[in-house]
Amino acid sequence: MKNKISNQFFISYIIVFVMSIITAFLALQLMSFADSVISKTLVKNNYTADNIMRDDYTMIDSSKVVENSGGVQVVNQNLEVVYSDGLNILGNGKLTTEEFTDFLIYSNSVGVPYSVDIQYNDTENFWLIVSFPTSIRIDFSFVYNREIASKDMQGVIGVIVAVVLFYFIMLTICAALYSKFTAIRFTNPLKKLVEGTQGLRNGDYSTRVHLNLKNEFADLQDTFNTMAEQIDHEFTLRQQSEENRKRLILDISHDLKNPLAAISGYSELCLKKLPPSGEEIKNHLLIIHENSIRANKLLTSLFELSKLESAEFSLNSSREDVCEYVRETMSTYLSLLDGAGFTYSFDIPEQEIFAMIDREQMNRVFANLMDNALKYNSGGTEISVRVWQEDSHAVVIFADNGIGISADIAKEIFSPFIRADVSRNSQTGGTGLGLSIVRMIVQKHGGNISLKTDNNDGCVFEIRIPTI
Ligand code: ADP
Repeated sequence: MKNKISNQFFISYIIVFVMSIITAFLALQLMSFADSVISKTLVKNNYTADNIMRDDYTMIDSSKVVENSGGVQVVNQNLEVVYSDGLNILGNGKLTTEEFTDFLIYSNSVGVPYSVDIQYNDTENFWLIVSFPTSIRIDFSFVYNREIASKDMQGVIGVIVAVVLFYFIMLTICAALYSKFTAIRFTNPLKKLVEGTQGLRNGDYSTRVHLNLKNEFADLQDTFNTMAEQIDHEFTLRQQSEENRKRLILDISHDLKNPLAAISGYSELCLKKLPPSGEEIKNHLLIIHENSIRANKLLTSLFELSKLESAEFSLNSSREDVCEYVRETMSTYLSLLDGAGFTYSFDIPEQEIFAMIDREQMNRVFANLMDNALKYNSGGTEISVRVWQEDSHAVVIFADNGIGISADIAKEIFSPFIRADVSRNSQTGGTGLGLSIVRMIVQKHGGNISLKTDNNDGCVFEIRIPTI
């Protein structure tokens, strides 16, 4: 059987009840012991009727009794109160037999706030009554006499057993109800948490638990919800990367299909159409050559990107002055820019800004940005390069005032196979992988790259690399 919380509570409550009964019994024992200890000092036990009794009642010394707020009365055979001093709960004058009997019963009954001691003097035939107000008294006693011979015993035991049984049944019912009620406060939130985990197990990562509690369950709920959020986030990321992977494979196969189809088609033509004219064969071979270059370029870029993404890849960096490095790199492109009819402006400070740079990899970054600027823009476009230091970063701006990229596409431009204009690219032979490689290299340097652009608004690439 499952060890349910409600069962555990039930057992605990029963144990607590039994323990409380034992404690109560012990407390009563202690009280009766204390009573025997204290009774010796009580005035009612020091000034009993027996103690102050004299055959001549006029000789009785009632002064100590009265001093202790008690009282002394003497009743003769005719039931006349012949002497009274101090507290009087009996009355004065002559009593009827009935009144005196009532008094005797009253003085002995439980709950009377007086302790009354009555002694009969059989020499002089009078009753001596000494009474004190009771301080505090709790009456409880268990009496048993072995000499009992009547059938009363069975009846009394029956009643006692019935009372005890009734008491235990009531106790059990109360404990069961209370344990059920208390356990609900634990089982309800637990049930909701179990439902939550089942939701996660069944793949519903949007599952959250709301308990509206402020105890430890609330902490558990928060931990659960944070965990569920993380799983949800991880799952979304996994789904996204899975989609990206699928898209990448689709893009690669699509991009490889065209050049390979051209290569196989034209080479087949060359082979079949024998003997082809010299001019024709030259054209076909040209197309084959161009497409094999295109396929090769795509595969090389893909290889580069996956190499950069692999865990084994590491930069071969050295401490470089970024300003000097950019100056040197740009100088290598001047004749190319001039030849393409581009204008340029450089704003590179004289100061030194040091960063860890892998020159070979960083050269690819600038080669790619320059290649794109030249490829997608026409003569007359201006290229401007600026460098400065901001906080702990070297900032390099590589900008052109050419055709730009629409803001929509620009958001995704650093992802593989994203191209601004498909028709534009089919002429330029771009792979759509260049900027992904650029971003990867900058990130490997601990930096980042961003693009500000819009249609006909030029492209402003901003590279930030941590300084040392
Ligand atoms: P690609 O091999 O196609 O050049 P890139 O990742 O380098 O791939 O560039 C992605 C796309 O961004 C290009 O196809 C081009 O449409 C656009 N692009 C990049 N640089 C520029 C630029 N300076 N001006 C206009 N368009 C650009």
